[in-house]
Amino acid sequence: MRLILLIAALLLPVGLAAKESGRPVTVLVGIDGFRADYLDRGVTPRLSKLAAEGATGPMRPSFPTKTFPNHYALVTGKRPDRNGITGNSMIDPRRPGVMFSLGNATQALDPFWWGEAEPVWITAERAGIRTATMFWPGSEVAYGSTRPSDWLRYDQNVGNVQRVNTLIDWLRRPTVIRPAFATIYFDTVDTAGHRFGPDSAEVNAALAEVDARVGDLVDGAAKLGVTLNLVIVADHGMRATDDARVIQLDTLIDRPSYIAVETGPYAAIEPVTGTDDRVAKALLVPHEHMNCTRKEDLPERLHWGTNPRVAAIICIAEAGWTILSGPPMYPVKGGAHGYDNADSEMRALFIARGPAFAKGARLAVFDNVAVAALLRAALGLPEDADADGKLADVQEALRR
Ligand code: AMP
Ligand code: ZN
Ligand code: ZN
Repeated sequence: MRLILLIAALLLPVGLAAKESGRPVTVLVGIDGFRADYLDRGVTPRLSKLAAEGATGPMRPSFPTKTFPNHYALVTGKRPDRNGITGNSMIDPRRPGVMFSLGNATQALDPFWWGEAEPVWITAERAGIRTATMFWPGSEVAYGSTRPSDWLRYDQNVGNVQRVNTLIDWLRRPTVIRPAFATIYFDTVDTAGHRFGPDSAEVNAALAEVDARVGDLVDGAAKLGVTLNLVIVADHGMRATDDARVIQLDTLIDRPSYIAVETGPYAAIEPVTGTDDRVAKALLVPHEHMNCTRKEDLPERLHWGTNPRVAAIICIAEAGWTILSGPPMYPVKGGAHGYDNADSEMRALFIARGPAFAKGARLAVFDNVAVAALLRAALGLPEDADADGKLADVQEALRR
Protein backbone atom coordinates (compact mmCIF):
# COMPACT_ATOMS: atom_id res chain seq x y z
CA MET A 1 0.00 0.00 0.00
CA ARG A 2 2.76 2.39 1.00
CA LEU A 3 4.63 1.47 -2.15
CA ILE A 4 1.55 2.24 -4.25
CA LEU A 5 1.23 5.64 -2.57
CA LEU A 6 4.90 6.35 -3.18
CA ILE A 7 4.62 5.47 -6.88
CA ALA A 8 1.48 7.59 -7.17
CA ALA A 9 3.23 10.55 -5.52
CA LEU A 10 6.19 10.21 -7.88
CA LEU A 11 3.96 10.01 -10.93
CA LEU A 12 1.66 12.85 -9.92
CA PRO A 13 3.81 15.79 -11.06
CA VAL A 14 4.48 14.12 -14.41
CA GLY A 15 0.80 13.42 -14.85
CA LEU A 16 -0.05 16.98 -13.94
CA ALA A 17 2.49 18.37 -16.36
CA ALA A 18 1.17 16.18 -19.15
CA LYS A 19 -2.42 17.18 -18.38
CA GLU A 20 -1.61 20.86 -17.89
CA SER A 21 -4.07 22.77 -19.98
CA GLY A 22 -3.48 26.51 -19.65
CA ARG A 23 -5.75 28.64 -21.79
CA PRO A 24 -7.29 27.29 -25.00
CA VAL A 25 -5.22 27.46 -28.17
CA THR A 26 -6.99 28.88 -31.22
CA VAL A 27 -6.11 26.81 -34.28
CA LEU A 28 -7.06 27.90 -37.80
CA VAL A 29 -7.20 24.87 -40.11
CA GLY A 30 -7.24 25.59 -43.85
CA ILE A 31 -8.41 22.81 -46.17
CA ASP A 32 -7.80 24.16 -49.66
CA GLY A 33 -10.71 23.62 -52.05
CA PHE A 34 -13.05 21.94 -49.50
CA ARG A 35 -16.41 22.82 -51.05
CA ALA A 36 -19.09 23.44 -48.41
CA ASP A 37 -21.24 20.48 -49.47
CA TYR A 38 -18.35 17.97 -49.33
CA LEU A 39 -19.27 17.76 -45.65
CA ASP A 40 -22.51 15.96 -46.62
CA ARG A 41 -20.77 13.11 -48.46
CA GLY A 42 -20.46 10.85 -45.46
CA VAL A 43 -16.69 10.46 -45.89
CA THR A 44 -15.56 12.90 -43.18
CA PRO A 45 -16.70 11.49 -39.80
CA ARG A 46 -14.33 13.59 -37.69
CA LEU A 47 -15.22 16.88 -39.38
CA SER A 48 -18.91 16.00 -39.28
CA LYS A 49 -18.63 15.36 -35.54
CA LEU A 50 -16.86 18.69 -34.98
CA ALA A 51 -19.55 20.44 -37.04
CA ALA A 52 -22.27 18.74 -34.98
CA GLU A 53 -20.59 19.81 -31.75
CA GLY A 54 -19.86 23.37 -32.86
CA ALA A 55 -20.97 26.07 -35.29
CA THR A 56 -21.10 25.46 -39.02
CA GLY A 57 -22.53 26.89 -42.23
CA PRO A 58 -21.67 27.56 -45.88
CA MET A 59 -19.22 30.39 -46.39
CA ARG A 60 -19.11 32.67 -49.42
CA PRO A 61 -15.55 33.24 -50.65
CA SER A 62 -14.36 36.61 -51.85
CA PHE A 63 -13.87 37.27 -55.56
CA PRO A 64 -11.65 36.09 -57.19
CA THR A 65 -12.36 32.62 -55.77
CA LYS A 66 -8.67 31.72 -55.78
CA THR A 67 -6.31 30.45 -53.09
CA PHE A 68 -4.08 33.37 -52.16
CA PRO A 69 -6.69 36.16 -52.19
CA ASN A 70 -9.04 34.12 -50.00
CA HIS A 71 -6.46 32.84 -47.54
CA TYR A 72 -5.43 36.43 -46.98
CA ALA A 73 -9.07 37.61 -46.71
CA LEU A 74 -9.70 34.98 -44.00
CA VAL A 75 -6.84 36.24 -41.81
CA THR A 76 -7.07 39.99 -42.52
CA GLY A 77 -10.85 40.46 -42.64
CA LYS A 78 -10.38 42.48 -45.84
CA ARG A 79 -11.48 41.50 -49.32
CA PRO A 80 -8.79 41.07 -52.00
CA ASP A 81 -9.26 44.61 -53.34
CA ARG A 82 -8.31 45.95 -49.88
CA ASN A 83 -5.93 43.23 -48.66
CA GLY A 84 -3.68 43.70 -51.69
CA ILE A 85 -3.65 40.04 -52.75
CA THR A 86 -5.98 40.62 -55.67
CA GLY A 87 -5.15 37.32 -57.38
CA ASN A 88 -2.93 34.25 -57.43
CA SER A 89 -1.12 36.22 -60.13
CA MET A 90 -0.78 40.00 -60.13
CA ILE A 91 1.05 42.83 -61.78
CA ASP A 92 1.50 46.24 -60.18
CA PRO A 93 2.27 49.49 -62.03
CA ARG A 94 4.64 50.32 -59.14
CA ARG A 95 6.66 47.18 -59.95
CA PRO A 96 6.95 47.33 -63.74
CA GLY A 97 8.03 44.20 -65.56
CA VAL A 98 7.46 41.68 -62.77
CA MET A 99 4.58 39.37 -62.01
CA PHE A 100 3.55 38.01 -58.62
CA SER A 101 2.60 34.34 -58.78
CA LEU A 102 2.42 31.35 -56.42
CA GLY A 103 5.33 29.65 -58.12
CA ASN A 104 7.57 32.74 -58.28
CA ALA A 105 9.19 32.71 -54.82
CA THR A 106 11.11 35.96 -55.40
CA GLN A 107 7.85 37.85 -55.74
CA ALA A 108 5.61 35.66 -53.53
CA LEU A 109 7.98 36.14 -50.59
CA ASP A 110 8.44 39.88 -51.09
CA PRO A 111 6.69 41.86 -48.30
CA PHE A 112 5.78 44.51 -50.89
CA TRP A 113 2.83 42.41 -52.03
CA TRP A 114 1.54 41.52 -48.53
CA GLY A 115 1.81 44.88 -46.81
CA GLU A 116 -1.66 46.26 -47.60
CA ALA A 117 -3.44 44.47 -44.74
CA GLU A 118 -2.40 43.08 -41.37
CA PRO A 119 -2.96 39.35 -40.78
CA VAL A 120 -4.26 38.20 -37.39
CA TRP A 121 -0.95 36.54 -36.40
CA ILE A 122 0.73 39.96 -36.59
CA THR A 123 -2.00 41.66 -34.53
CA ALA A 124 -1.66 38.84 -32.00
CA GLU A 125 2.16 38.97 -31.83
CA ARG A 126 2.01 42.73 -31.32
CA ALA A 127 -0.43 42.18 -28.45
CA GLY A 128 1.97 39.72 -26.83
CA ILE A 129 0.14 36.59 -28.00
CA ARG A 130 2.48 33.95 -29.34
CA THR A 131 1.67 32.56 -32.81
CA ALA A 132 2.89 29.71 -35.02
CA THR A 133 2.07 28.94 -38.65
CA MET A 134 2.31 25.46 -40.12
CA PHE A 135 1.85 27.02 -43.57
CA TRP A 136 -0.57 29.76 -44.63
CA PRO A 137 -0.20 32.10 -47.60
CA GLY A 138 1.44 35.29 -46.35
CA SER A 139 2.82 33.74 -43.17
CA GLU A 140 6.31 33.39 -44.64
CA VAL A 141 6.64 37.13 -45.01
CA ALA A 142 7.54 39.73 -42.40
CA TYR A 143 4.96 42.45 -41.79
CA GLY A 144 6.95 45.49 -40.80
CA SER A 145 9.48 43.80 -38.54
CA THR A 146 7.05 41.23 -37.12
CA ARG A 147 6.57 37.56 -37.98
CA PRO A 148 4.87 34.60 -36.31
CA SER A 149 7.16 33.31 -33.51
CA ASP A 150 7.29 29.99 -35.39
CA TRP A 151 6.75 29.74 -39.13
CA LEU A 152 7.86 27.51 -41.98
CA ARG A 153 8.56 28.10 -45.65
CA TYR A 154 5.80 26.42 -47.71
CA ASP A 155 6.78 23.01 -49.05
CA GLN A 156 4.14 20.88 -50.74
CA ASN A 157 6.31 17.80 -50.12
CA VAL A 158 5.81 18.04 -46.37
CA GLY A 159 3.06 15.45 -45.91
CA ASN A 160 -0.14 16.00 -43.96
CA VAL A 161 0.96 13.69 -41.11
CA GLN A 162 4.16 15.69 -40.72
CA ARG A 163 2.21 18.97 -40.72
CA VAL A 164 -0.02 17.70 -37.90
CA ASN A 165 2.94 16.31 -35.95
CA THR A 166 4.72 19.67 -36.15
CA LEU A 167 1.66 21.44 -34.79
CA ILE A 168 1.26 18.88 -31.99
CA ASP A 169 4.92 19.37 -31.08
CA TRP A 170 4.23 23.09 -30.71
CA LEU A 171 1.25 22.30 -28.46
CA ARG A 172 3.47 20.02 -26.36
CA ARG A 173 5.59 22.95 -25.24
CA PRO A 174 5.33 24.49 -21.78
CA THR A 175 2.74 27.27 -21.73
CA VAL A 176 5.27 30.12 -21.83
CA ILE A 177 6.53 29.12 -25.27
CA ARG A 178 3.39 27.40 -26.57
CA PRO A 179 1.53 29.31 -29.30
CA ALA A 180 -1.90 30.64 -28.35
CA PHE A 181 -2.76 30.96 -32.04
CA ALA A 182 -1.65 28.57 -34.78
CA THR A 183 -2.51 27.80 -38.40
CA ILE A 184 -2.23 24.59 -40.39
CA TYR A 185 -2.88 24.17 -44.10
CA PHE A 186 -3.72 21.13 -46.28
CA ASP A 187 -3.57 21.32 -50.09
CA THR A 188 -4.47 17.73 -51.07
CA VAL A 189 -8.26 18.11 -51.48
CA ASP A 190 -7.74 21.03 -53.90
CA THR A 191 -5.11 19.12 -55.87
CA ALA A 192 -7.42 16.10 -56.28
CA GLY A 193 -10.30 18.43 -57.18
CA HIS A 194 -8.31 20.01 -60.01
CA ARG A 195 -6.98 16.75 -61.42
CA PHE A 196 -10.03 14.52 -61.13
CA GLY A 197 -12.99 16.86 -60.62
CA PRO A 198 -15.12 17.45 -57.53
CA ASP A 199 -17.23 14.30 -58.02
CA SER A 200 -14.29 11.89 -58.25
CA ALA A 201 -13.34 8.98 -56.01
CA GLU A 202 -9.94 10.69 -55.67
CA VAL A 203 -11.52 13.75 -54.02
CA ASN A 204 -13.43 11.49 -51.64
CA ALA A 205 -10.17 9.71 -50.75
CA ALA A 206 -8.43 13.06 -50.14
CA LEU A 207 -11.37 14.17 -47.98
CA ALA A 208 -11.15 10.99 -45.90
CA GLU A 209 -7.40 11.40 -45.47
CA VAL A 210 -7.56 15.06 -44.38
CA ASP A 211 -10.47 14.17 -42.10
CA ALA A 212 -8.25 11.59 -40.38
CA ARG A 213 -5.48 14.20 -39.98
CA VAL A 214 -7.92 16.64 -38.35
CA GLY A 215 -8.88 13.73 -36.09
CA ASP A 216 -5.19 13.18 -35.24
CA LEU A 217 -4.89 16.86 -34.32
CA VAL A 218 -7.97 16.74 -32.07
CA ASP A 219 -6.81 13.49 -30.40
CA GLY A 220 -3.23 14.72 -30.04
CA ALA A 221 -4.31 17.94 -28.33
CA ALA A 222 -6.69 16.00 -26.05
CA LYS A 223 -3.88 13.66 -25.04
CA LEU A 224 -1.78 16.68 -24.07
CA GLY A 225 -4.67 18.18 -22.14
CA VAL A 226 -4.65 21.21 -24.45
CA THR A 227 -8.08 22.67 -25.21
CA LEU A 228 -8.55 23.85 -28.79
CA ASN A 229 -10.73 26.55 -30.26
CA LEU A 230 -10.76 25.09 -33.76
CA VAL A 231 -11.75 27.19 -36.78
CA ILE A 232 -11.76 24.97 -39.86
CA VAL A 233 -12.21 26.71 -43.19
CA ALA A 234 -11.69 26.40 -46.91
CA ASP A 235 -10.68 29.17 -49.30
CA HIS A 236 -13.21 28.30 -52.04
CA GLY A 237 -15.08 25.37 -53.55
CA MET A 238 -14.57 23.47 -56.81
CA ARG A 239 -16.53 23.06 -60.04
CA ALA A 240 -16.29 20.42 -62.78
CA THR A 241 -14.69 21.57 -66.04
CA ASP A 242 -14.14 19.83 -69.38
CA ASP A 243 -12.47 20.25 -72.75
CA ALA A 244 -15.75 20.95 -74.53
CA ARG A 245 -16.27 24.21 -72.61
CA VAL A 246 -13.20 26.27 -73.48
CA ILE A 247 -13.05 29.87 -74.71
CA GLN A 248 -9.85 30.76 -76.59
CA LEU A 249 -8.91 34.44 -76.40
CA ASP A 250 -6.72 33.96 -79.49
CA THR A 251 -9.86 33.72 -81.58
CA LEU A 252 -10.76 37.25 -80.47
CA ILE A 253 -7.48 39.13 -80.21
CA ASP A 254 -3.89 38.43 -81.22
CA ARG A 255 -1.61 37.41 -78.40
CA PRO A 256 1.12 40.11 -78.65
CA SER A 257 -1.49 42.78 -77.88
CA TYR A 258 -2.24 41.67 -74.32
CA ILE A 259 -0.76 40.17 -71.16
CA ALA A 260 -2.92 37.41 -69.68
CA VAL A 261 -2.21 37.96 -65.97
CA GLU A 262 -4.67 35.17 -65.15
CA THR A 263 -6.64 32.64 -67.22
CA GLY A 264 -9.10 29.93 -66.23
CA PRO A 265 -12.54 30.54 -64.70
CA TYR A 266 -11.76 34.23 -65.07
CA ALA A 267 -9.21 36.05 -67.20
CA ALA A 268 -7.35 39.19 -66.13
CA ILE A 269 -6.15 40.97 -69.24
CA GLU A 270 -3.75 43.88 -69.43
CA PRO A 271 -3.52 45.39 -72.91
CA VAL A 272 0.03 46.09 -74.05
CA THR A 273 0.39 49.89 -74.16
CA GLY A 274 -0.81 51.38 -77.41
CA THR A 275 -3.12 48.54 -78.34
CA ASP A 276 -5.66 49.37 -75.66
CA ASP A 277 -8.44 50.29 -78.07
CA ARG A 278 -8.08 47.17 -80.18
CA VAL A 279 -8.12 44.88 -77.14
CA ALA A 280 -11.09 46.70 -75.65
CA LYS A 281 -12.99 46.60 -78.93
CA ALA A 282 -12.43 42.86 -79.28
CA LEU A 283 -13.31 41.98 -75.73
CA LEU A 284 -15.87 44.50 -74.50
CA VAL A 285 -18.69 43.07 -76.61
CA PRO A 286 -21.16 40.32 -75.75
CA HIS A 287 -19.68 36.80 -75.84
CA GLU A 288 -21.20 33.41 -75.40
CA HIS A 289 -20.21 31.86 -72.07
CA MET A 290 -18.21 34.80 -70.70
CA ASN A 291 -18.66 38.38 -69.63
CA CYS A 292 -15.90 40.94 -70.16
CA THR A 293 -15.85 44.39 -68.59
CA ARG A 294 -13.40 47.11 -67.71
CA LYS A 295 -12.42 46.66 -64.09
CA GLU A 296 -14.19 49.88 -63.10
CA ASP A 297 -17.45 48.47 -64.47
CA LEU A 298 -17.42 45.21 -62.51
CA PRO A 299 -20.57 44.60 -60.44
CA GLU A 300 -20.45 46.27 -57.03
CA ARG A 301 -21.17 42.96 -55.25
CA LEU A 302 -17.74 41.62 -56.27
CA HIS A 303 -16.02 44.40 -54.26
CA TRP A 304 -13.09 44.11 -56.63
CA GLY A 305 -11.46 46.36 -59.22
CA THR A 306 -10.28 49.50 -57.44
CA ASN A 307 -6.83 48.13 -56.58
CA PRO A 308 -4.15 49.04 -59.17
CA ARG A 309 -3.16 45.35 -59.12
CA VAL A 310 -6.40 44.34 -60.84
CA ALA A 311 -5.81 44.17 -64.62
CA ALA A 312 -7.68 46.57 -66.91
CA ILE A 313 -10.10 44.07 -68.47
CA ILE A 314 -11.74 41.22 -66.59
CA CYS A 315 -13.59 38.37 -68.27
CA ILE A 316 -15.56 36.02 -66.03
CA ALA A 317 -16.55 32.66 -67.51
CA GLU A 318 -19.97 31.12 -67.21
CA ALA A 319 -19.90 28.43 -64.51
CA GLY A 320 -17.98 25.38 -65.77
CA TRP A 321 -16.32 27.19 -68.69
CA THR A 322 -12.60 27.87 -68.96
CA ILE A 323 -10.96 30.91 -70.57
CA LEU A 324 -7.53 30.22 -72.13
CA SER A 325 -5.24 32.22 -74.42
CA GLY A 326 -5.03 29.44 -76.98
CA PRO A 327 -5.57 25.69 -77.29
CA PRO A 328 -5.29 23.84 -73.97
CA MET A 329 -1.73 22.76 -73.11
CA TYR A 330 -3.07 20.11 -70.73
CA PRO A 331 -6.49 18.44 -70.33
CA VAL A 332 -9.10 20.89 -69.03
CA LYS A 333 -11.24 17.99 -67.75
CA GLY A 334 -11.19 18.06 -63.98
CA GLY A 335 -12.11 20.89 -61.66
CA ALA A 336 -11.48 24.60 -61.20
CA HIS A 337 -12.33 27.59 -59.04
CA GLY A 338 -12.09 31.30 -59.69
CA TYR A 339 -15.73 31.73 -60.81
CA ASP A 340 -18.13 34.41 -59.58
CA ASN A 341 -18.34 34.14 -55.80
CA ALA A 342 -22.15 33.99 -56.08
CA ASP A 343 -21.74 30.48 -57.58
CA SER A 344 -22.93 28.04 -54.90
CA GLU A 345 -20.25 25.54 -55.97
CA MET A 346 -17.60 28.09 -54.93
CA ARG A 347 -18.90 28.00 -51.35
CA ALA A 348 -16.40 26.91 -48.73
CA LEU A 349 -16.30 24.85 -45.54
CA PHE A 350 -16.68 26.57 -42.17
CA ILE A 351 -16.65 24.87 -38.75
CA ALA A 352 -15.89 26.50 -35.38
CA ARG A 353 -15.69 24.18 -32.40
CA GLY A 354 -14.36 24.75 -28.90
CA PRO A 355 -15.17 26.61 -25.68
CA ALA A 356 -15.30 29.98 -27.49
CA PHE A 357 -17.93 28.78 -29.96
CA ALA A 358 -21.64 28.04 -29.85
CA LYS A 359 -22.71 24.41 -29.76
CA GLY A 360 -25.00 23.37 -32.56
CA ALA A 361 -25.19 26.80 -34.27
CA ARG A 362 -26.20 26.61 -37.94
CA LEU A 363 -25.21 29.77 -39.83
CA ALA A 364 -26.79 30.98 -43.05
CA VAL A 365 -24.32 31.74 -45.86
CA PHE A 366 -21.92 34.51 -44.82
CA ASP A 367 -18.88 36.30 -46.31
CA ASN A 368 -15.50 34.77 -45.46
CA VAL A 369 -14.02 38.11 -44.31
CA ALA A 370 -15.96 37.67 -41.04
CA VAL A 371 -13.64 34.80 -40.03
CA ALA A 372 -10.86 37.23 -39.03
CA ALA A 373 -13.28 38.93 -36.62
CA LEU A 374 -14.17 35.56 -35.12
CA LEU A 375 -10.48 34.68 -34.65
CA ARG A 376 -9.84 38.03 -32.97
CA ALA A 377 -12.78 37.44 -30.64
CA ALA A 378 -11.50 33.96 -29.73
CA LEU A 379 -8.08 35.48 -28.95
CA GLY A 380 -9.53 38.36 -26.93
CA LEU A 381 -8.33 40.93 -29.46
CA PRO A 382 -10.52 43.97 -30.23
CA GLU A 383 -12.53 43.99 -33.43
CA ASP A 384 -10.89 45.80 -36.36
CA ALA A 385 -13.29 48.61 -37.25
CA ASP A 386 -11.60 49.01 -40.64
CA ALA A 387 -12.18 45.39 -41.70
CA ASP A 388 -14.75 44.40 -44.35
CA GLY A 389 -15.95 41.48 -42.22
CA LYS A 390 -17.88 42.19 -39.02
CA LEU A 391 -18.21 40.07 -35.91
CA ALA A 392 -21.96 40.66 -36.16
CA ASP A 393 -21.96 38.55 -39.37
CA VAL A 394 -20.85 35.46 -37.41
CA GLN A 395 -22.15 36.38 -33.95
CA GLU A 396 -24.19 33.17 -33.78
CA ALA A 397 -20.98 31.14 -33.96
CA LEU A 398 -19.73 32.65 -30.70
CA ARG A 399 -20.73 31.21 -27.35
CA ARG A 400 -22.88 33.67 -25.45
P1 AMP B 1 -4.74 27.28 -56.70
O1 AMP B 1 -3.86 27.40 -57.88
O2 AMP B 1 -5.54 28.52 -56.46
O3 AMP B 1 -5.53 26.03 -56.74
O4 AMP B 1 -3.77 27.18 -55.44
C1 AMP B 1 -3.52 26.00 -54.73
C2 AMP B 1 -2.06 25.72 -54.68
O5 AMP B 1 -1.41 26.72 -53.90
C3 AMP B 1 -1.76 24.40 -54.01
O6 AMP B 1 -1.33 23.48 -54.97
C4 AMP B 1 -0.66 24.72 -53.02
O7 AMP B 1 0.41 23.82 -53.16
C5 AMP B 1 -0.27 26.14 -53.35
N1 AMP B 1 0.14 26.89 -52.15
C6 AMP B 1 -0.52 26.95 -50.99
N2 AMP B 1 0.13 27.71 -50.09
C7 AMP B 1 1.23 28.16 -50.70
C8 AMP B 1 2.32 28.99 -50.30
N3 AMP B 1 2.36 29.51 -49.08
N4 AMP B 1 3.28 29.24 -51.21
C9 AMP B 1 3.20 28.73 -52.45
N5 AMP B 1 2.22 27.93 -52.89
C10 AMP B 1 1.24 27.65 -52.04
ZN1 ZN C 1 -7.32 27.14 -53.01
ZN1 ZN D 1 -7.02 25.18 -56.51
